[in-house]
Amino acid sequence: MSNRFILTLLALLLSGGAQAQYPNRNVTMLVPYAAGGPTDTVARVTAQAMGKPLGQTIVVENRPSAGGILAPETIKNAKPDGYNILIHHIGMATTPALYRQLRFNPLADFDYIGLINDVPMTIIARQNIPAKDFKEFLAYIKANKDKVSYANAGIGAASHLCGMLFMSAIQTDVLTVPYKGTAPAMNDLLGGTVDFMCDQTTNTTTQIKAGKVKVYGVTSAKRVPSLPEVPTMIEQGLKDFEVGIWHALYAPKGTPKDVIDKLVAALQVAVKDADVNKRFADLGATAYPADKATPAALQAHLKAEIDKWGPIIKKAGVYAD
Ligand code: ASP
Repeated sequence: MSNRFILTLLALLLSGGAQAQYPNRNVTMLVPYAAGGPTDTVARVTAQAMGKPLGQTIVVENRPSAGGILAPETIKNAKPDGYNILIHHIGMATTPALYRQLRFNPLADFDYIGLINDVPMTIIARQNIPAKDFKEFLAYIKANKDKVSYANAGIGAASHLCGMLFMSAIQTDVLTVPYKGTAPAMNDLLGGTVDFMCDQTTNTTTQIKAGKVKVYGVTSAKRVPSLPEVPTMIEQGLKDFEVGIWHALYAPKGTPKDVIDKLVAALQVAVKDADVNKRFADLGATAYPADKATPAALQAHLKAEIDKWGPIIKKAGVYAD
């Protein structure tokens, strides 16, 4: 055996083998919705900030599908080596109730990395809708319920969940128009082909501030600092109307612990990063503290959210398949 070979072998053994080199190439972060939408925005901010401590680029890849179920399915079947990870939102907790034939189990098929942020939603409408406040908007919907249309990102999306709760709260059903993300839905709203939607502040704040859409309320319990003039739905009489969207990161089940540890450490750097916090805050979102950017916190949160939304969805009798 040559000295060089022995030295290389020794270096490998001391460094814990090839895994210790992780990551030695780009990591892919799969997004279940269309580019330019709210989850995509959170993904790009997070990926960029995590890339620095990892010393590699995290490439964001969109895998949009109805209800955002294709991306988790893809990650479930990906090689568990840390090079393929998933960002998902509350949909990870609502799809088990919405899909009777879901091809992944959120609680069994993934390793957890951690929680990223919380995002409130807003009820927005096309700019020229003839309603200057929520009261008039409600009257308009009720008077025109056969022609009013509601856009969402497909069954199981946050916008679908929020719309479902909204229609149930105002006891009026309207036509829903599904898209593969609220980025394309927003285009149609701006073009005036659909009337309203409920979407995350990460997608709506810029349009609201530019006066390109009308806004009738936020879905958080308290007003959002970046949109202080917008009242909550609760303030406007819709008791208990609170929907909070949270984003998190997952890896395929069986990813080595040292790899997960590196991803967790990078996520914790990201949620503490001043630029990330500013970008989130400008868009109405709040990063989780670093102690929530952990596998244990995500696992507990996911389980609690599945337990919370399952009965609400079952009671509403909505199925996607
Ligand atoms: N998160 C989706 C998107 O990025 C929207 C939604 O869930 O409603 O388009």
